[in-house]
Amino acid sequence: MTPEQHIKKLRDALNEHNYRYYVLDEPSISDYEFDQKLKELQKLEEAHPEFFDENSPTQRVGGTITKHFETVKHRYRMYSLDNSYSKEDLIDWEKRIEKIIGKKVAFSCELKYDGASISLTYENGKFVRAVTRGDGIHGDDVTTNVRTIRSVPLVLKGTDIPDSFEIRGEIVMPLDGFTTLNAARVEAGEEPFKNPRNTASGTLKLQDSSEVAKRPLEALIYNIQGEEMPFKTQYESLKKIRSWGFKVPNAAKLATNLDEVLQFIEYWDKHRHELPYEIDGVVIKVNDFEHQKELGFTSKSPRWAMAYKYKAEQAKTRLNKITYQVGRTGAITPVANLEPVALGGTIVKRASLHNADQIEKLDVREGDMVFVEKGGEIIPKIVGIDFTKRKPSSKPTTYISKCPECKTELVRLEGEALHYCPNVKDCAPQIIGRIQHFISRQAMDIQGLGEETVSLLVTNGLIRNYTDLYTLTKEGIIPLERMAEKSAQNIINGIEASKKVPFERVLFGLGIRFVGRTVAQKLATHYRSIDKLSKATKEDLMSVDEIGVRIAESVSNFFATEENMEIVERLKQHGLQLEISEADVKDKTDKLEGKTFVVSGVFEMSRDELKALIEKNGGKVTSSISSKTNYVVAGENMGPSKKAKAESLGISIISEEDFLKMI
Ligand code: AMP
Ligand code: ZN
Repeated sequence: MTPEQHIKKLRDALNEHNYRYYVLDEPSISDYEFDQKLKELQKLEEAHPEFFDENSPTQRVGGTITKHFETVKHRYRMYSLDNSYSKEDLIDWEKRIEKIIGKKVAFSCELKYDGASISLTYENGKFVRAVTRGDGIHGDDVTTNVRTIRSVPLVLKGTDIPDSFEIRGEIVMPLDGFTTLNAARVEAGEEPFKNPRNTASGTLKLQDSSEVAKRPLEALIYNIQGEEMPFKTQYESLKKIRSWGFKVPNAAKLATNLDEVLQFIEYWDKHRHELPYEIDGVVIKVNDFEHQKELGFTSKSPRWAMAYKYKAEQAKTRLNKITYQVGRTGAITPVANLEPVALGGTIVKRASLHNADQIEKLDVREGDMVFVEKGGEIIPKIVGIDFTKRKPSSKPTTYISKCPECKTELVRLEGEALHYCPNVKDCAPQIIGRIQHFISRQAMDIQGLGEETVSLLVTNGLIRNYTDLYTLTKEGIIPLERMAEKSAQNIINGIEASKKVPFERVLFGLGIRFVGRTVAQKLATHYRSIDKLSKATKEDLMSVDEIGVRIAESVSNFFATEENMEIVERLKQHGLQLEISEADVKDKTDKLEGKTFVVSGVFEMSRDELKALIEKNGGKVTSSISSKTNYVVAGENMGPSKKAKAESLGISIISEEDFLKMI
């Protein structure tokens, strides 16, 4: 095989696997095998730059920076949709259609995905351009960003593919991915995103396409525009488009009369929460393209299509009290404590009020009857107030000016939405929060010590910061409430063991604002020791791959603070890993990066050795099987319940030998 043939073969195979994974949701090879093939292709492409192709699967990882998105004219205008909210609206619409066409027509019923609309251009079976809707006539060219979205086929398959066409769809962020993304942001001390829709459209306009590649976006397709299309109806077109490799959700249905349309609407109103992404309604389209042509457009929208919007689920309840929480970084979050009420299948007791501006904008007050809504948000939000129920004695809410915990005057930096308690050193929830973060699984993973105990240790005056943990003695902690001798010993052992935790996790544990796990890893690998890192200037920090001004400032501020340097110095004296050890560097790889393992059964080597090997190669070991597990390494006598669980979740079960081959 010539290198060219080899490259082609790998690209074809990867495109196919990509399709199976992201469009069909039916992978036929393991992630590991996929990564191996991708790496092989990368190597070949590096060795043979003459075969570069912007539509190669290797280009999905992004890397191009777009400073300015160019404005492009749509070949076919992108219309908006008329909205309807009731059965009557739809009956009227059908009457109008009947009058023009002269008879009853069939409809294609589809979900109305809630994201950002996109138009994708394909020429000769290849992806060439992606443009946002913009004002419908012109949009922004976001091609490099959209190329990273795995469900967008770069090379089409199947038959009857027109030479040139534009295909339309919605870029959405599925709820699972949204939740994971937000968890990582919170972990890094960043503000979580508000909802999947804004996150999806915001992500499309990021300048760095490799950042886009990391965000879990999907393209759901619903329409095609072009000359001489090989189909005559909308419903047929969806099936055909799907066969070319696009992700066209299967929910679409052909309705031969309005009753069937109404059934479709009713069904999805009930079941929409089972979908992996959000919808805000359904779209009904006249099925026959000839009919569509006859019906034509108004100035804004097609006469042959109608959106039916679902009401967001709402509940009305009393706001009992507004309280304020202080996070580990000192950020203040106002919380509405509600009279418990049922909403979207759960009981809601609290709602987010976001910040002072939001409270002022809503004019929300204690004692109000409020409307609560649940969207993709993590906790429900208050969207309005029933002013008719407000008592004349009610007074406007004044936002607190002092920290609810330590009474320090709050500050609000310019351009920031949140108030902060600046009393970093002495504010109890900040002190406790920092130590809780330090001991957490992803950081020092101190066994035997829980969040409650940390609170107790602080409130009893035994510790004030995380270095103090290393001076605790068994005798010192036994007097704590409900502390048995054995658990006290476990805590001490756990703390002792944490001295072996590698540098990057210690660095993450320090709780520097905006330094999440990935950034900590980057900084650790680049600077190799806390001494070098603490001396780095802002400019120097910014020269590190993916470190921007915000992170750089935060890191240099952290080390410019004397107390922090003292704490670091003490951690060093206690023998924590504040540099990368040479042994680590030598046999460390990232072969298993991003993969989560569960180890079960008896092996040739000891289980600890096996776990250490996984971690050394960048993998993660957890104790129980969940949907996040990638592999179960099974030894002899693997527990049958574990096995059943892995099988039911479709997780690959591999032997010790398979595992060794992986590394
Ligand atoms: P609106 O923004 O409320 O005017 O609704 C129109 C938008 O709905 C379109 O621009 C599309 O982005 C979006 N949409 C979502 N799902 C569909 C679908 N199945 N068919 C047509 N448009 C859809
Ligand atoms: Zn405070």
